[in-house]
Amino acid sequence: MEKLSCKERFRRAMRHQEVDRPPVCGMTTAATTELMDYTGAPWPEVHTDAKLMAKLGLGAYPFLKLESIRIPYCLSYEAEILGANVNLGKKNSTPMVKGSKYRDNLDADLELMDEKEMLRAGRNPVIIEASKIIMKDKASKELPTVLGVTGPFTIAGHLVGTENLILWTITEEDMAHKYSNFVSEYVGMWLEYVDKNLGFDTIQMSEPSASWDMLSPDLFDTFALPNLKKVYKRMDDTMSILHICGNMLPMLDNMIGTGCTGCSIEEKTDPYQAVKKANKRSALIGNVGVVRPLLQGTPEDVRVMTEKSIDAGFDVISAGCGLSALIKKENLRMMAETTVNYKRRSKTSKRVPLTAGPANFHFCFMLSRLSIA
Ligand SMILES: [Zn+2]
Repeated sequence: MEKLSCKERFRRAMRHQEVDRPPVCGMTTAATTELMDYTGAPWPEVHTDAKLMAKLGLGAYPFLKLESIRIPYCLSYEAEILGANVNLGKKNSTPMVKGSKYRDNLDADLELMDEKEMLRAGRNPVIIEASKIIMKDKASKELPTVLGVTGPFTIAGHLVGTENLILWTITEEDMAHKYSNFVSEYVGMWLEYVDKNLGFDTIQMSEPSASWDMLSPDLFDTFALPNLKKVYKRMDDTMSILHICGNMLPMLDNMIGTGCTGCSIEEKTDPYQAVKKANKRSALIGNVGVVRPLLQGTPEDVRVMTEKSIDAGFDVISAGCGLSALIKKENLRMMAETTVNYKRRSKTSKRVPLTAGPANFHFCFMLSRLSIA
């Protein structure tokens, strides 16, 4: 088949059209301290400086061979605008929500800002400016561009405390709806702006607080799914990837039910079973383990696990969750190299054994847990 650019390969893979091999991308938060040194764009300065933010995003392909440009680097910028306090973290840690104005005033009236106010609010001007710099760079014509956003249920948890929100889904449904619906109005407005003005190929939405570890499938369908459906409908041209941590096999149908273009899942979900279950109703993105093998394993461990995701039939190869900033370039380059050089095996070849990371440990999940403090 004709030679595909990385961007075209990604667009085709997301739609189950023929490709020579899967793309290998940084779909969840994708920066490491080595990449920060290479680009001269370190956290936490990157979070408030558009030029640095764009520089770091543009460095992922030349330095790590990840075929994507992705910004920003946190799950906190929406919550900050809606009333949360955020600590921007350090070079090796992402920004964290440290409380919000609603924690002591849960009955507060919620009033949605208008679009004009949204564009001026918090770190939105930085993200908008960084997007413009990226779209002017010729690399954005060759590589898929990805905007990270946070899911409405997770943002609502940032505002009222994730533990409160989860408890309310059982004890005070009205309160759970009040906050998650309010947040989804904001997220819908933001995604509509992003779709019409910024030119990204896809959004990648992290919704860790709606994981199977925290919500049953029924509760997901009541409190998370309707808002996810609603916000994705605000976009016409931009694809949507829903990322949820943990073993999501029992809830893969629920994820697909949101209407997202792709589901991004971790290594705790068996890739062979996930591909079978998804049955091309949605693209699958992942699911090379962040802790093992990317952080703690050898390049050889990374090769084995990457081959497993490709062999299973994942549409886009990526880390299963947000990268730890301490992952070494050798391991990320091995994930990329293995994907680029992969030759499909005959159907009789043996499956690669499952070696999932430690149970109940993933970075997005940690973020949402820490936000309770
Ligand atoms: Zn995750």
